[in-house]
Amino acid sequence: MPKILVTGGAGYIGSITIHHLMRRGFEVVVVDDLSRGHRENVNPSQLTVARLQDTDAVTKVLAGVDAVVHFAAYIAVGESVRKPELYFSNNVGGTVSLFEAMARAGVNKLVFSSTAAVYGNPERVPIPEDARFDPVSPYGESKAMVEKILESLDRNHSIAGSAFRYVALRYFNACGAEPDAGLGERHEPETHLIPLLFRAAVSGKPIQIFGSDYPTPDGTCTRDYIHVGDLAAAHVAALDHLLAGGASHCFNVGTGKGYTVMEVLRATEQVTGLKVPFEMALRRDGDAAELVADAAKLRSTLAWKPERSDLHAILTDAWNYFQKHPA
Ligand code: UDP
Repeated sequence: MPKILVTGGAGYIGSITIHHLMRRGFEVVVVDDLSRGHRENVNPSQLTVARLQDTDAVTKVLAGVDAVVHFAAYIAVGESVRKPELYFSNNVGGTVSLFEAMARAGVNKLVFSSTAAVYGNPERVPIPEDARFDPVSPYGESKAMVEKILESLDRNHSIAGSAFRYVALRYFNACGAEPDAGLGERHEPETHLIPLLFRAAVSGKPIQIFGSDYPTPDGTCTRDYIHVGDLAAAHVAALDHLLAGGASHCFNVGTGKGYTVMEVLRATEQVTGLKVPFEMALRRDGDAAELVADAAKLRSTLAWKPERSDLHAILTDAWNYFQKHPA
């Protein structure tokens, strides 16, 4: 079976994708600097603790690798507005170093974690892949820059002297868990909606709702919530495509259906049986009003479809995981 390097494999989506890859029989090695991920998410025999900026270390790990799945990045929109330099250095600089290591090691296939944040405030929703890039946060800008570099590498065949091929997966809102594998969402500090709703429900301390004056049905932001298991399946499909010699692509990964923050809050109350206290707050910098995917291209090209992304199924898996891993 092919050997895959997963960068950022100690993180939330990375660790769950590894679980899916190994179930499929892939050999997996991992590079993670553990600055944001959790050591216990990865089998120690698979893990090299290194920064992607350490090109020599990453080149060594790439020996015998057939393709890379690249998750390692910082992901907090709000933090990226306060510390843009950190996001460009880690998300762009780290990725460029990875490309150099791949060139040295002769590895020329990559699946990239991109984001709906590359679109900013889209002109139309659901958002197709050919929508204009107009990110409104340094986080989104860092991912858009990497996509530009990927296009250039593909055009110029500049990795390993042979055709470089990639799939960029633009995630909408990753959520849910793989409770059976003991894997789920646990960021510190936590900034994501669903774990924060659970924390508010359990602690009784209100969650702040960032903005109630958006042009949406109830004034709160609309997002397309995609189960992390469905997201992991999209990575496996993208790898199969590249390993079979497929062309470069970018794909939205979402369901095509949006929920407002208040709808997610109410659904959380139903799933947990607890009241979620909340208070209305100012808009958060860098937030777009509505992000919903047109995911038709991924469905038709890679025969992928969301199977676990019903909002109640997402919240049920996430709640199971949260109860076993309280903050
Ligand atoms: N959100 C919120 N309060 C919070 C965290 C998030 O109102 O404490 C909102 C946020 O403004 C966005 C949605 O929930 O509209 C999803 O945010 P999250 O950070 O989970 O994901 P993002 O959309 O930034 O990728």
